[in-house]
Amino acid sequence: MAIHWSLDHLEKLLPKRLFAKLSEISCNPNVPIEAGGNYPIINAETGDLLAGVPYARGFRVPRSKMRALCAEGIDVQYGKNLTDLAFSEKGDLVFASFSDGTIAQGSVLLGADGPRSKVREFAMSGAEAAQVSKFPICHHNMTVCYRDVDKAKYLRQRFPTSYLALSQKSHHAFQSISSMPDGQDHPETWLFHLAMAWLGDPEHSLSYEERLAIIKERAQGMGEPARSAFTWIPEDTLVHKADISYWITQPWDNRGGRVTLVGDAAHPMPPYRGQGLNHCICDSSHLLDGLELVRANKATIKDAITAYDEELVPRGRDEVKCSLENGLMLHDWQKVKESPVFRNGFRPMTGHDGKEALSEHAQAQMKRDEEEQRDIPVAAT
Ligand SMILES: Cc1cc2nc3c(=O)[nH]c(=O)nc-3n(C[C@H](O)[C@H](O)[C@H](O)COP(=O)(O)OP(=O)(O)OC[C@H]3O[C@@H](n4cnc5c(N)ncnc54)[C@H](O)[C@@H]3O)c2cc1C
Repeated sequence: MAIHWSLDHLEKLLPKRLFAKLSEISCNPNVPIEAGGNYPIINAETGDLLAGVPYARGFRVPRSKMRALCAEGIDVQYGKNLTDLAFSEKGDLVFASFSDGTIAQGSVLLGADGPRSKVREFAMSGAEAAQVSKFPICHHNMTVCYRDVDKAKYLRQRFPTSYLALSQKSHHAFQSISSMPDGQDHPETWLFHLAMAWLGDPEHSLSYEERLAIIKERAQGMGEPARSAFTWIPEDTLVHKADISYWITQPWDNRGGRVTLVGDAAHPMPPYRGQGLNHCICDSSHLLDGLELVRANKATIKDAITAYDEELVPRGRDEVKCSLENGLMLHDWQKVKESPVFRNGFRPMTGHDGKEALSEHAQAQMKRDEEEQRDIPVAAT
């Protein structure tokens, strides 16, 4: 996952010693987080650069390492499946019941339980209003080890970290270095994250082998480096189907400030503009601001959580809508360059309800960035 505009928030949230360790979990530790750069979007057939999306600072992380780092010093209890919620008579406590029969109590329940959030069902007073919709895409993720020094090195020559290739046949191909288990001097064990997706019915029952065969066939028509990255995938690689779903954020009942949502529970969205986690981090940061006011006796829990919700709902709604539009356009060659990632880069949405989301100032800045960045090589991204 790429973390970019939310880095300031992350810096506020993490203890200093953990923030200092972020570069250790970076997919490409050779590129400093502060370096910034241009994220390469290329024409899958020709390999030509379509856009270098500028970012001031940022990096990519593998999920497992990011989770482990953020969980340091926290007693995370795994295997707990939330089944029910209840409130004390006075309304000052919330009780969460889990399928193993245990109950936890606290003053606020933060539903950070992902796209199919159970907490959202309670907050929306029913499963129907909380239901996600499927984004109509066949998206495949693969963790690939080429077990070959030369192949692994070749694939990182032009784009050492990652690139997004957009095909004239309306699919995307994505490659990123994911981790280097035995270090940079052992390319034979480097792990890459590859993804390929095209619009269509995600409900298919193809086997891993059948999915790989389709991906390799699509890759035949691509240029370098995507062609080799995908045609060289070892035959025993597992091609996972990703469930890409969304819920357009709506106001919920926070039960007097006792229940709220964070992250994908509040705004699950298609991932093709790399916004989901950045908004999760932003949510947490705003939540912390509110809870600090409560701790300092400057706000009640009800007021702090209500203020948090009121900021989050329009932000989440705009971003989900924007990511939907972007996801559809990126997989339609005729519309690729009108898509939000081309128009707005990685900036978070600031507008409302599909109106032009960027202020004139932001658009002018974006144009300047593009002009300045046009000739800058993208190799470091
Ligand atoms: C292919 C792909 C690429 C992406 N790339 C980017 C990117 O580059 N940049 C970016 O910003 N975002 C990206 N995202 C989005 C990002 O992954 C998500 O926004 C982020 O992981 C959401 O974190 P979360 O903690 O809210 O939810 P999750 O990571 O889904 O975590 C939810 C947790 O809740 C638990 N849970 C669920 N139900 C229950 C229950 N009933 N009881 C108890 N626990 C429960 C789950 O087990 C899980 O541990 C990408 C997403 C995808 C799919």
